[in-house]
Amino acid sequence: MTITQGYTPHQAHQSESSLPVAMLVGSNLCRYPYMSAYGAMMRVCRLHVLPREMRFRYLGVRFNRHDDIPKMLATSGARKDQLFRHIGGDESIRTYWDIEPWLPFSTSVSEADLITPLRICPCCSRSGYHTILFHLPWVDRCPWHGARIVDQCPSCSRPLLPQFIDADLVPHDCPCGVNFFDVKSAIHGDPSIDHHARAWQASYLAWANEARTQRYLVAGASLQDLDAAEAGVLADLPLNLRTTCSMHAAGAGKGRVQVLRPATSAAAGQTATDFLLAMKALPVTERAAINVPPSLLRSFRAVAQNIVEKLPARTFFEGDLLRIYPPDDPGHRRRPPGLPHRQHAELTFLPLLQSPTGGVLDCTSIDKHIRSVVRGATWDLMEKLPHAQDGPIIRDLDLGTRTVLAALGKRLLLHGYAQGIRIILGRHVATLYDLPRDRPRPRRPIAIVFTSRDQVTKANLIWVKAPAADA
Ligand SMILES: [Zn+2]
Ligand SMILES: [Zn+2]
Repeated sequence: MTITQGYTPHQAHQSESSLPVAMLVGSNLCRYPYMSAYGAMMRVCRLHVLPREMRFRYLGVRFNRHDDIPKMLATSGARKDQLFRHIGGDESIRTYWDIEPWLPFSTSVSEADLITPLRICPCCSRSGYHTILFHLPWVDRCPWHGARIVDQCPSCSRPLLPQFIDADLVPHDCPCGVNFFDVKSAIHGDPSIDHHARAWQASYLAWANEARTQRYLVAGASLQDLDAAEAGVLADLPLNLRTTCSMHAAGAGKGRVQVLRPATSAAAGQTATDFLLAMKALPVTERAAINVPPSLLRSFRAVAQNIVEKLPARTFFEGDLLRIYPPDDPGHRRRPPGLPHRQHAELTFLPLLQSPTGGVLDCTSIDKHIRSVVRGATWDLMEKLPHAQDGPIIRDLDLGTRTVLAALGKRLLLHGYAQGIRIILGRHVATLYDLPRDRPRPRRPIAIVFTSRDQVTKANLIWVKAPAADA
């Protein structure tokens, strides 16, 4: 099979305004709703049996060996435009080559970090179909075929990607003999794609389109570190969609996602306001200290005391214990016996320092990824809400907004503090590693804040393991 009607890309360039001149075989995508740019390219490439050196000439896009092609095509506007110009077709297919329509939240996280590397449904691939849906973190199952989405050859575990770039190989045809593409199926089309894929994705896209105006993602880790069930619960994917695009049972992933809801008392509102005001000074990268409002002092001290009390007596010096259990603290009498005299220089700044207005926290102990999420989920987010351009106007925000954002910020900060204490203590106290729940274990947060009519209504939070380099 070759190019129809003597088409050459050269002609296409010359007569852009009068397209379509002729189309590449397989580029008529009316029966392939919501096809991705990668899918369109792969399909044309396979139907024309385009060798590597011809791919650039006919498709207009060039790649290097280690490029993540689906991701590059999804994120690079120039490449999408080039490909669209070469493939031709209806303008509406170009819309779903972008990532944005597929996201159920707005965010400042870069698009490339939101989607996975190449994943395919082996059944869809047979007829040359691929959609950005397969790259979303909450999807690990093809909703219309029920098949598991794969990122490698199920038979030999080779990654899928190099098959596209290698000169002697063709995309979706594994050297082990497994061919994920079938010419006959690609020509005849797959009725379940024409019907079910169209209907399912239409309802998904309608949900995402509305959700995007009401949710905001703040992430200190990659969404790809979540399994599909956790990601689905975090994003609050409706149950009917979640159960069909995930291999997990309906209730899976629920236990790991923390849900923060608004408080109703005026006292909680005041505490929340104090906390949010204090967070304005929270440094994200540099070393600095912040004032901790009196209402939070007990919680911070309890974090440190909770760890100290699990360790054997005489692990710490008296000087360190005095900072963790100051004389005016209700826990003072529980102070375990310590070693005489000295104190660790590194531990000096770990406990909160007393100040006339509350306490002072040295933020060095809190991981910068966590600090950046606290910042993103409080001040960066409040600046997006109306009437909250600066500090004093916080008081004009409704009670729900203030209490949810403060609850999320507190949760992040206290967890970050507990984690930081364990990491620093772990350098001095080897027995900490014998405590399964308290051994130093760096984690990073991902949160989604939900709004309705510019008021925050709840927040979902999950922690994921930090990359090994940080451990
Ligand atoms: Zn499928
Ligand atoms: Zn294989």
